[in-house]
Amino acid sequence: MSFSRTYSIRITRAFLALSLALLFGTISGRAIYAEDLTRTDFVLGTVCTIRLIDGGNANTLSEAFARLRSIEDHMSANKDGTEIAQINANAGKEPVKVSEDTFYVITKALEYARLTNGAFDPSVGPLVKLWNIGNGGEKVPPEREILAAKALVGWQQVVMDAATRKVFLKKPGMRLDLGAIAKGYAADEVAKILIAHKVKAAVVDLGGNVLVFGSKKDKSPWRVGIQNPESARGEYLGIATGAQMTVVTSGVYERYFIQDGKRYHHILSTETGWPVDNGLVSVSIISKSSIDADALSTSLFILGIEKGMALLKNFPDTYAVFIDKDKKVYLSPGASKVFTLQEKNYHLAEK
Ligand code: ADP
Ligand code: MG
Repeated sequence: MSFSRTYSIRITRAFLALSLALLFGTISGRAIYAEDLTRTDFVLGTVCTIRLIDGGNANTLSEAFARLRSIEDHMSANKDGTEIAQINANAGKEPVKVSEDTFYVITKALEYARLTNGAFDPSVGPLVKLWNIGNGGEKVPPEREILAAKALVGWQQVVMDAATRKVFLKKPGMRLDLGAIAKGYAADEVAKILIAHKVKAAVVDLGGNVLVFGSKKDKSPWRVGIQNPESARGEYLGIATGAQMTVVTSGVYERYFIQDGKRYHHILSTETGWPVDNGLVSVSIISKSSIDADALSTSLFILGIEKGMALLKNFPDTYAVFIDKDKKVYLSPGASKVFTLQEKNYHLAEK
């Protein structure tokens, strides 16, 4: 996982967190949650905010942030000594024993690799490292280096041994990267802590990967803004409304660089080795499970509208909002129950 981002991106995320706060505040229609307990910190490579609205205390927040940090310490690909770093350092050499959480998240990521025929692939690490997007000083790498990195990507070369909880990458130079799934896992894990602390209502925002937990005192539905892909300031394009849910977006505006007027973003095609270029600018998933929403937002972004909609049929109560560069918005079946488009420059399309 790429857990380091440029300063400007951190600012964008902070804006997003702030505008989410405003959105909830506005809609509550009362003194902006005067008794709320909120904490914001930079973890998992992004700005994370947990807001306890009903129930819980400072210990709840401490425990939740400690859990986020332990997930980062296990699963970051860029930090020395993490389990993922150890697996990568031992590629082609020997299997590495990992914690239950890391084993679970890799297993889950490999399930998505199978479901998407390798479009989503946690072994995309060599390409992520080569492009190094979001870390400053980026430029388009030479094609031969792209091809060399692409040759090292292959989820079928990841060997999982459940009995010993060991993970082995068969070829030297292979690298795992859980950047497309770990934040979703982390949000679900925070929800478990909220349950244990008898929290009744809370908002978990891990860099725009949002989970609204429980129900508010007045029983009004949650409303979560989906970002306008064109605005760096966290303005909304539309709103997801419902009971406890998670809303996760993958898009071209999250991390990117511009060279010769062209944008190169951070979701990479394992087929070409280049950033995915299929006309989509973002995909948002609205569902109950954040790990699935995270994996699906990236998967559907890569697969595109048609194949993405087909994959989604396997997931009940899970909705997708696709946005393309012509400002058209494509909703999966049933998504209009939970999503309302608000931005007038965008138009709902049939497909
Ligand atoms: P974000 O991390 O901004 O929330 P995503 O969940 O869509 O966005 O994850 C994008 C990250 O996933 C990239 O930064 C990279 O670490 C990783 N990644 C890039 N391409 C792929 C791919 N084809 N399959 C799986 N993971 C990928
Ligand atoms: Mg994702």
